[in-house]
Parts: sequence; C-alpha cells; structure tokens
Amino acid sequence: MDIEYTAEEDAFRAEVRDFIAQNHSDEIKAKTAKSLTGYIHKEDHIAWQKALHKKGWIAPNWPVEHGGPGWSATQKYIYETEMMQAGCLRPVAFGLKMVAPVIMEFGTEEQKKKFLPDILETNVWWCQGYSEPGSGSDLASLQTRAIPDGDDYIVNGSKIWTTMAQRADWIFCLVRTSTEGKRQEGISFLLIPMATPGIKVEPIVLLDQTTAPDQEVNQVFFQDVRVPQANRVGDENDGWTVAKYLLEFERGNAYAGGLQGGVARIREIAKQERVDGGRLIEDPAFAAKLAQLEVTVAAIQYTELRTLSALSAGQRVGAESSILKCQGSSMTQEIGELTVEANAYYASPFDRGVLDAGANVAPIGPDYSIAAAGRYFNQRKATIYGGSNEVQHEIVAKRILGM
Ligand SMILES: Cc1cc2nc3c(=O)[nH]c(=O)nc-3n(C[C@H](O)[C@H](O)[C@H](O)COP(=O)(O)OP(=O)(O)OC[C@H]3O[C@@H](n4cnc5c(N)ncnc54)[C@H](O)[C@@H]3O)c2cc1C
Repeated sequence: MDIEYTAEEDAFRAEVRDFIAQNHSDEIKAKTAKSLTGYIHKEDHIAWQKALHKKGWIAPNWPVEHGGPGWSATQKYIYETEMMQAGCLRPVAFGLKMVAPVIMEFGTEEQKKKFLPDILETNVWWCQGYSEPGSGSDLASLQTRAIPDGDDYIVNGSKIWTTMAQRADWIFCLVRTSTEGKRQEGISFLLIPMATPGIKVEPIVLLDQTTAPDQEVNQVFFQDVRVPQANRVGDENDGWTVAKYLLEFERGNAYAGGLQGGVARIREIAKQERVDGGRLIEDPAFAAKLAQLEVTVAAIQYTELRTLSALSAGQRVGAESSILKCQGSSMTQEIGELTVEANAYYASPFDRGVLDAGANVAPIGPDYSIAAAGRYFNQRKATIYGGSNEVQHEIVAKRILGM
C-alpha cells in the first residue's frame, strides 16, 4: 500500500530528504544504528536537535504561536516517516512531546515564557518523574510528598525507572499534596531543577550492563528538596488531570515510520543471508512472516494518519493513543524478533566493546547483526513504559469500546 502525495507534498518530501542528507552526519547515523536504547552521547542529541530547530522543524506538533512549523497532517507524517526510514536520531520526547504540551495547556503565561523557548532550542534536558517503587500501573498510589512551607514545597520520596535522569536539568514530577479524599484528588504536578540540594540520582544497571552513553534508567531520591510553589503546573491537587493529559501525548507517538524502516532493514538482511543454499528472502516461510509484518505496519500507518487528522482539526488524541501504543510497541518487538531470526547465529555474540562509539574492535558478524540481539532484549521495555500494554487494553475496553 502507498499514499498518493500531491506535487507540493512530493516537493516537501524531497526537502526533508535533502535536509537529512545535509545535516544528519554519518557519525550520528552510525552511532544511532549501534545504539540499543535509542540514546547516544548527549552532545550528539543536542547538535542534531539544534540543527532541526534552526530549520524550524524541531516541534512539528507545536502550535505556530509557540514555534511550531504550521504543517498539515500529511506534512507531519511525511516528516516523521522520512526521519525514521532514514534511521535518524529521534528527538528526545520528555521536553518537546511531554512537558511542553502540558505547559501550553495548563501553565501560567510566566511558565510558558520561562520554559517553552528553552525546550524548543534544546537548552535544557527534561526527565519524567511519574513511577515510584510500588506505584507504576497503579500510579495514583504514589507516595512522594510535597508539604507546603511558605512559598515553597518540601519534597520527600523517590521516583524510579527515570529515563536519562543522569542527563536531565529538570524533572517533571507527580507529588502527593493531600491524603484526603480519593487518591487521584491529592496529586500535584511540579517542575523541579535537578541541581536542587537534596536530589540524588542512582543508576539502575540492567542485564545488558549498559553504561554511558546508553545507560538508561535510574532511581531519583528527594530528601527535603525545596521547590517554589510557582513551579506547580495547574491547581494544587489537580495534578491527575495534568498527568493524564501528558500521557495522551506520551502514548500517541508515531510508530509507522520507524516500523517501516525496520521492515526495510529486515528485507535487506534477508537478501544477503542464505538458507538451504538459497537466499533467505526467497524462503517461503520467511517471506510470509515478512509480508504479515508489512500488512500490520500498513494498518498502523493508517491509524496514525487518522489520529494526525484529528489532531490537525484541533481535537485531542484521547484514549485512542492507547491503541497506537499497544500496536506500535508490539510491532516494534515483532520486528526485533524477525531481525534476530534473519541474522541467525550472527545475532548471538554480544560484545559491548563493538557497540561502544569509536570502537576499534572487529565485529564477529556483518555490521547489520551487531545490535540485533541487544536491541531485541532492550525492546522488552516498549510494552511496559508509558503504561503497560495490559493496562492500555483496559483503557481501550473501557473508554473506547464502552465495556
Ligand atoms: C525502560 C523503562 C523506562 C521507563 N522510563 C520511565 C520514566 O522515564 N519515567 C517514569 O515515570 N516511569 C518510567 N518507566 C516506568 C513505567 O511507566 C512502569 O514500569 C510501568 O508503568 C509499569 O509499572 P511497574 O513497573 O510498577 O509494573 P506493575 O504496575 O507492578 O505491573 C506488573 C505487571 O502487572 C500487570 N498489571 C498491573 N496492573 C494491571 C491491571 N490493572 N490489569 C492487568 N495487568 C496489570 C502489568 O501489565 C505488568 O505486567 C519506565 C519503565 C521502563 C521499563
């Protein structure tokens, strides 16, 4: 299946391709291809995001008044798809796609002026402080307390699985400001500078032993951390409304471009790998699996286009973002699985030395096999973060299907 573009849209696609060729350096492309997590060195993220900002393309979904490019739904789609298919580094979502829409919707004018330009220019790195030990799916049970003290709050508690907290300048946090009434009614949304005294970040070392620049998740501890009440977004005890709004954006990611890129890469690998004396791509069983993936990815693509059209018409993403999250994350994992299958035994060696940027170590298999297994394992996260798929199924059942 293919989408018919107008001549203007074709010209736009050519402009995006040209921009990528000129600005997404070979070095960044190579590092991105080897990354298991999607993160590379901080300075590379900043350089790429600043180049996108200079072109006016860093925030496709932002309204024009705050610096968005004013694109149509199709232009946004072309842009996302081209970036993903070319294997470009993804802009980090925590500022641009998560806290910024929240500040635009619920923030004061002062907060908009203070925070949005720095997010647009990638002058700050944000992280997300939602989950706590014991409060993941059941987020409303969170215990991190913020107790008023003059014009400030004093924050005590801990956040866990905080992605890239070690790089962050600011964290947006859900904190408990009341223990009265329903659990959801006692939560507030706070913006906290990571350099505030009393904050400690400890890395969580995972099975893949990822270290910098890939080291991904952390636990963040708050001990008597003083935060101005002026840093609260939305009303006190109304943070649950803010939190849910942010999650719509977190879950409403565009997956199709990345998935199409993944399918295309499997096709290339299968043209080179051999099985039973023939090329893998000609093996009927393998070709059927690849075709099934392509069909599902096309269905995801059209679901995303429907969502984009709704967004462009000024509607909210709503609970439909849960459909995208489930389908996109499951398909990411299936593509990872078929990539490992296509690489066969060359997917097995796991040599961190080969994966490190600037490594001078010869890989055991072909270049395309280096990250296959590591990425497959890392992608177990996709059906957990942003709310597990089991929980998203419940949201779809209740809020879309009315069950
Ligand atoms: C790599 C990674 C990065 C992350 N980054 C961040 C981050 O930056 N910031 C942040 O705040 N959080 C982050 N998270 C946390 C993530 O949001 C939580 O892990 C997730 O919400 C699940 O919560 P939990 O881990 O406490 O699991 P639990 O809630 O304990 O769930 C355990 C299992 O029970 C199932 N389950 C739970 N409740 C239900 C239910 N009602 N119905 C059916 N099944 C259910 C779940 O699906 C899961 O399989 C990250 C997680 C990962 C893995």
